[in-house]
Amino acid sequence: MTIVVTGGAGFLGHHLVKLLLEKGKRVVVMDSFWTGSQENIAEFASNPNFRHILCDVREPLPDVEDVEQIYHLACPASPDDFERAPIEILETCFMGTKNVLELATVRRARVLLASTSEVYGDPEISVLPESYRGNVNSFGPRSCYDEGKRTLEALAFSYRLKNNVETRIARIFNAYGPYMAIKDGRAVPNFIGAAMDGQPVKIYGDGSATRCFQYATDCVEGLYALMNSDYDNPVNIGSDLEMTVGDIANKVTRVVAEKLGQKAPVAVQYLPKRVDDPTRRKPDITRAGEVLGWSPKVSLDDGIAQTVDWFLEKHGRPKSLM
Ligand code: NAD
Repeated sequence: MTIVVTGGAGFLGHHLVKLLLEKGKRVVVMDSFWTGSQENIAEFASNPNFRHILCDVREPLPDVEDVEQIYHLACPASPDDFERAPIEILETCFMGTKNVLELATVRRARVLLASTSEVYGDPEISVLPESYRGNVNSFGPRSCYDEGKRTLEALAFSYRLKNNVETRIARIFNAYGPYMAIKDGRAVPNFIGAAMDGQPVKIYGDGSATRCFQYATDCVEGLYALMNSDYDNPVNIGSDLEMTVGDIANKVTRVVAEKLGQKAPVAVQYLPKRVDDPTRRKPDITRAGEVLGWSPKVSLDDGIAQTVDWFLEKHGRPKSLM
């Protein structure tokens, strides 16, 4: 089976491509290296089942005649990018998704679209089932991403209605793990990078906002299960272990300190809360359990330890410890 993965040179893309190749699939990655990298796909280069096409999904996609499934992951996902490139993100969400759905229409391929917990905005309820319609600001610094991804879901529905395209929608909640870019701007790599440099970790807000972090391999197994299921309404893919951002920062800095033999973890520096940043975020993952038989497996302790090890390996331990 030939499978296209847009955004396959990104963080989640790397883990997904690895899983698909391990299952014996032929994989064509379409990626512009905007926020991903050649390095993230380097280990697949010698696999005869792997191919990368350098392209921007905002342009009509190259044809892949025998494609049967398309995972559409291409889109920046860091709040830093929302500020840097909001128009390009909106274009990627709309034009990129449309181009993917056009290819799927022509080749009768099934499409899994990477949506996000951000479609719920800053929620007014504490646990988020897929039926919750969200509390999104359409006119603010996060709107390009939040509304962009809501548009992606609307496009999926419209192509299903008009062109009978088979679509799957994964609402992904915070994922972390190896192959995130250290300068990505998201919480876990930010905390690890600062702690490795011996610098205070920066938290936007007072640290009491909550998140549920899932390990990358769990996440992509959820995507795989959803793609290959018969279920065609949105499904939350995430962990339901809720923690404050402050607690996550403390956990990460403690692990880095232990691994580097530092006497104490680095300090935490609090910065003003980002506009419209959700104060609580916890998925209801009952549906994923019921329709996919999926739930996250990797504990936060194991996941953080493996992630820190990978960052230390990739970016080097401080010379004094070598
Ligand atoms: P990432 O930035 O690491 O990967 C995105 C990849 O898409 C990169 O390789 C980038 O180069 C590529 N890309 C972006 N725009 C492109 C374009 N216009 N044309 C071609 N390639 C393009 O991000 P990620 O964390 O791996 O996220 C993957 C997908 O999952 C995104 O769609 C994101 O919105 C979604 N998602 C991720 C999370 C998470 O916690 N990681 C949470 C919710 C949703």
